[in-house]
Amino acid sequence: MSSGIKLVALWLSKAKSAVVFTGAGISTESGIPDFRSPGGVWTKYRTVYFDEFCRSAEARHEYWNQKTEAHTAFAAASPNIGHQTIAKWEQSGRVRGVITQNIDGLHQISGSKDVLELHGTAREAYCLDCDARFSIDPLVEHFRQTNEVPLCADCGEGRLKHATVSFGQMLPEKTLERAYQWCQEADLVISVGSSLVVHPAAGLPELAKRSGAKLVIINRDETGLDSMADMLIDGSCGEALAAIDAAL
Ligand code: NAD
Ligand code: ZN
Repeated sequence: MSSGIKLVALWLSKAKSAVVFTGAGISTESGIPDFRSPGGVWTKYRTVYFDEFCRSAEARHEYWNQKTEAHTAFAAASPNIGHQTIAKWEQSGRVRGVITQNIDGLHQISGSKDVLELHGTAREAYCLDCDARFSIDPLVEHFRQTNEVPLCADCGEGRLKHATVSFGQMLPEKTLERAYQWCQEADLVISVGSSLVVHPAAGLPELAKRSGAKLVIINRDETGLDSMADMLIDGSCGEALAAIDAAL
C-alpha cells in the first residue's frame, strides 16, 4: 500500500468534519460515461439551454429525446465500491456527507443519506409551472412509446423537465448554501472523479482548502486544483477509496 493512501487514511481517521466531493468519474466504473470522454453526450448532441427549453416546444422535444437516451445508462447502473465506501464512511460517522455534481442518484442507492446534489437529480422530473415532482421512469417510458413530451398530471399542461440543472439555470440555492457551510467547516475534503473545472461546483473544494481543510484529490487525469492539493492520488476512484478504507 502506498504511503499516500496510508496518510489519507490517517487524516480521515482524525478528521472531525470530513466531506467527500464527487464528480462524474466516480460513476464511470458503474458504466455511466463522464461528459468529457469520446462519444459522450457533449460530442453527440446540441445543448438545450434553459431559456430555450422554456419557450420552445421543439427544444423540449429535443431535450426529452436526449434525456431518454441517457436514461438507459442510468437505469441499468448500480453503485460501485467507490459509492459504497463513501456510504459506509457516512454511516460510521467518518464523513459528514457527500457533495456531488452527479445526477445519477447512485450515492443514495448505495446508502448515503446526506447527499447535496448540486446539479439536481435525473431520477425525478418537475413541473416548471406548478412545481409538482414526479418519478422519472413512467415519464421516460411515455416519451419512448409516444415520442411526445409528457405534460404535468397535476396542473394539466405544465412543462415537465428533469430535476437537473440545465445550462443557463441557477444551482439550487439551499443546497449550495449548505455545501458552502460544510466546506467552510471542513477539516478534510476528498474530491473523487471530478476534473474540478466546472464552476461554481469546483469552487467548493477550493473554499474548503482556503478555510483550512486538507484537500485530497483522487482522479486519473489532471484537475483544476492539483496545485492546491495536500495529496494527489492518480488512479481509479473505486480502487483508491477501497484502499483508503482498508488502511483505516
Ligand atoms: P468531468 O467529466 O469534468 O470529470 C470527470 C473526471 O473523472 C475526469 O477528469 C476523468 O479523468 C476522471 N475519471 C473518469 N473516470 C474515472 C475513474 N474511473 N477513476 C478516476 N478518475 C476518473 O466530470 P465533472 O467534473 O463531474 O463535471 C461534469 C458535469 O457533468 C457535472 O456537472 C455533472 O453534473 C455532469 N455529469 C454527471 C454524470 C453522472 O451523474 N454520473 C455523468 C456525466 C456528466
Ligand atoms: Zn404542473
